[in-house]
Amino acid sequence: MYNLTDIGTVKDILAKHGFHFSKALGQNFIINPSVCPRMAEESGIDESCGVIEIGAGVGVLTAELAKRAKKVVVIEIDTKLLPVLDETLKDFDNIEIINQDVLKTDLAALIKEKFDGMPVYVCANLPYYITSPVIMALLESRLPIEAVTVMVQKEAAQRLCAPVGSRLSGAVTVAVDYYAKAQKLFDVSSGSFMPAPKVDSAVIRMDIRKQPEIEVSDESLFFKMVHAAFGQRRKTAANSISAGSGIPKDVVIKAIEECGFPPSVRAEGLSMQELADLSEKIHHLLKNS
Ligand code: SAM
Repeated sequence: MYNLTDIGTVKDILAKHGFHFSKALGQNFIINPSVCPRMAEESGIDESCGVIEIGAGVGVLTAELAKRAKKVVVIEIDTKLLPVLDETLKDFDNIEIINQDVLKTDLAALIKEKFDGMPVYVCANLPYYITSPVIMALLESRLPIEAVTVMVQKEAAQRLCAPVGSRLSGAVTVAVDYYAKAQKLFDVSSGSFMPAPKVDSAVIRMDIRKQPEIEVSDESLFFKMVHAAFGQRRKTAANSISAGSGIPKDVVIKAIEECGFPPSVRAEGLSMQELADLSEKIHHLLKNS
């Protein structure tokens, strides 16, 4: 079995296969030996589980997942990594590699086809250029998954795990909190990667809620309102919501008043339940107008 955190070993294998790192594909591979075992360990998987990994690199995390799970399906876009992975993961018989763009993959169909009733987890060191679309696709499509453990940029981790209603929260924080319970697991310094990126990273875990955090009658109105509210976060909620969502300003002002919020309230000062209440009032006023 290869030591995939040994720089010399990894460089030799990559050179043998004529592989060159692609910045555009976010190819920064983990070389810190403690990171992948810890990620796999804290992701919640055990030998009864199926795991989807996004982006294999040289397979350093894939191997740690395969040691602990029943089956690992890894989606890797870069065809040039396939011969590398054939070599580095040859000792495992529970790994399947799918050479595809994760954003074009039907994950619901994949889960049905590959995991046959197993509890399914997602664990990945995400390419940073697709962090948000991947996380939102995983959450919004309501896939039958238990938890998503991903490495993201440190700033993104702070926003994703911020309490709703705090200064760091944003539309993505609300969306994550609606579908999952998010927590930061640990920080990862830029020196843990080859090549080293300019920024530090953090690993976060999102445990998928069986039921959304709050109840709203019109989910699409709720998210439209939230996106508008945080779109211009320095403005009052009344101004940002009406400007960004097309909901008439008098309706938004009335809803804010009926909720008992001050007219100057801003989105970042509202809790999850308060945002839900505001969306319910707007829904009601629009329905009766
Ligand atoms: N898991 C490895 C590790 O931890 O060292 C590699 C992580 S590296 C940050 C991201 C990986 O995602 C690369 O192998 C890259 O080729 C792959 N990747 C980039 N865009 C992708 C996409 N749209 N779909 C699937 N894989 C992608």
